[in-house]
This record gives sequence, C-alpha cells and structure tokens, in this order.
Amino acid sequence: MYKHNRRHFLRTAAVLPAMTLAGQPLIKGVFANMEHPENLNAMNKTRSSHTPGYVQMHHSGELKARGEILYERMRHCDLCPRDCETDRLSGLRGDCSAHADLEISSASAHFGEESELVGRFGSGTIFFTNCSMLCVFCINYEVSQLGHGRQYNIRQLADMMLLLQRRGCHNINIVTPSHYIPHILLALDRAVPDGLRIPLVYNTSGWEKTEVLEFLDGIVDVYLADFKYADADAADKYSPGARCYPEVAQKAMLEMNRQVGVAHPDEDSGLMYRGLMIRHLVMPGNVIRSDRVMRWIANNLPKDTYVNIMSQYTPMFKAHDYPEIARRITRSEYNNVVSVARSAGLTNLRLQMR
Ligand code: SF4
Repeated sequence: MYKHNRRHFLRTAAVLPAMTLAGQPLIKGVFANMEHPENLNAMNKTRSSHTPGYVQMHHSGELKARGEILYERMRHCDLCPRDCETDRLSGLRGDCSAHADLEISSASAHFGEESELVGRFGSGTIFFTNCSMLCVFCINYEVSQLGHGRQYNIRQLADMMLLLQRRGCHNINIVTPSHYIPHILLALDRAVPDGLRIPLVYNTSGWEKTEVLEFLDGIVDVYLADFKYADADAADKYSPGARCYPEVAQKAMLEMNRQVGVAHPDEDSGLMYRGLMIRHLVMPGNVIRSDRVMRWIANNLPKDTYVNIMSQYTPMFKAHDYPEIARRITRSEYNNVVSVARSAGLTNLRLQMR
C-alpha cells in the first residue's frame, strides 16, 4: 500500500487531458488495452451484485434534485465549513479558489489507495482542483492550492466516470470533492442512464458540514475520510482558518458512520463496497494529537471502525517554514500512535511502518 503515493500518481497520471477534451477517438485509444475481452471477463468476475445507492436516487429523481439545490447554494457558497458566502455563480472564486466551473487535475486507475479499493484493476480516481483546507504541508499543493488542472463541464465529468468503469476500475474515487459536490451529483445523474454502476468513494479531508453530508445520504457508498487534527491550535496553524476542524470532523465522522456503517470488505472479492474508512496521517512530534484522535474514534464509533494509520508524512510545500514539522516521523512516533489505538480498543487497524 502507498508504494505509489499520490504525488507520484499525479505526476504520472496524464490520462485526463487526453480522455475528454480531445474527443472520443482518443478516449478509445487511451483505454483500448483495458477493453480487451480478457480484461473484461476478469473484470466481470470481480464485480459484485452491489448496486450503488446513487442508482436508485437517480430513478427517484432525488439525485438531480439534490444536485440542483446544492448548485444554487454556490450563489452564496456555504458548502464547506469556511462559509465564505462567495457568489461562485457570478464567476468569483471562494476561499477554496473554486468558482462555479468544474476544474479537475487528473483521472485514472490508481493503485496507491487502500487494497480494498484498488483490487485488481485499480480505484477510478478523479482529482479535483482546489481545496478549502489550505494545509501548509499538502503533498498535492500544485493541485489543491496552485490551481493545476483544467476546466470541464458536468457531461465531461459523467463521461470520465463511465470511462473509468469501462477501464475496469472497481469504484469512482472522488478526491477533495467538497467544493464540487453539486457538479458530482449532477454528473452521476447523467452517468447512470449510460450504465454507471460501480460504488462511489467520497475521499475527503474530513472537514465537512453535517448538513451538507446529509445531502449525500444514500448516494455515497464508501466514505474515505481523513481525521487530521484533534487539536484546534494545530488545525489553525497548519490549515489556516480551520480552527474548528476537530469539532467539525467529529460530527462528520458520526454522520458518515450513521450513513454507511463500519467498512468490511466483501468476503469473496476482498473489495470494499460500503462503509466508513478513516485515514490518519501521523505527523512529527504529535503536534496534531494523534493520541486524542485514536481515543475519540474508540470512544465514539464502533471499535471495529476501519482506521488506516499512515506513516508517509513528508514535509512539502510550506512545511519547512514550521521547524517542528519539517521532518519525517520516526518509527517510535508511529508505534506510539499504534499503541494508543490498540490500548483504546480499536480492532480494525491498517498499519504501515513497523
Ligand atoms: S466550498 Fe469554497 S466557496 Fe464554498 S464556502 Fe467553502 S471555501 Fe467558500
């Protein structure tokens, strides 16, 4: 796991520009190898009978209705906890740097995510440009804060989802989606009639408003959620303006767990079709209070909640302006977090450094 990290992935996944704007012939060229009958046969054997919730939501009209309500909220945008109330529909960019037009950095099969999402043919990952978290150590800062990406429309996003499914990907993995939720729901609504049927993975920083998450109830199959900080001062320091992160993230975790429950892989395929998967990136010096994160999860969510304790922190972007986080973590720091998690009673841990 994480042999191919996100930075490596973003540098090598040059699929998207060729996928969409260049037109259908090139789309077929990019994915031609994955449409070989042998691949399709193998792919079909790994597909479950699981039907994603968004399919039913499309048929009831709820998917489109929710997407349109959220789209209109961009007029005084309050889609994320920053509540900056920017009129994105008039072309202005909010605190997250997003306006109303969809901007995407890359889309491709990704093999660096958790094994239950990657399977044999990869997780169909779509990286959205811009982000409201503004982390000073962001490893994907070119995309999240420097605006790397291109504009696409909702129909093109739907086509990307369908192409990832045709390629054999086991899910649609939307990365940093919060500021583009309206577009995502409307794209799903257009993709369902054309056959989209793979699970939707909502890959989030964890800084999500509960009332917005409620719009995703019945639509998202898997929440893949960071739990970054349990300390408000650290949240404000390393994600400027996100002092409320611990409180917001705790409420978000409860809501996500309410919607999809504990994540357990399918016994036959080993793939994840539903549930909450939490990620926690251990940082140097316990500045983010990983111990509190683990105890909070153990005390407020089921003990078998899926928790991936990640060790790959690398000082990037502005991290060198903060001496205390300008280094990688030690083995001892990582093991201390694992010990706390185990002592707190968590039983469904995914570990990296040993
Ligand atoms: S999603 Fe962006 S524009 Fe909307 S409230 Fe958050 S920071 Fe502001």
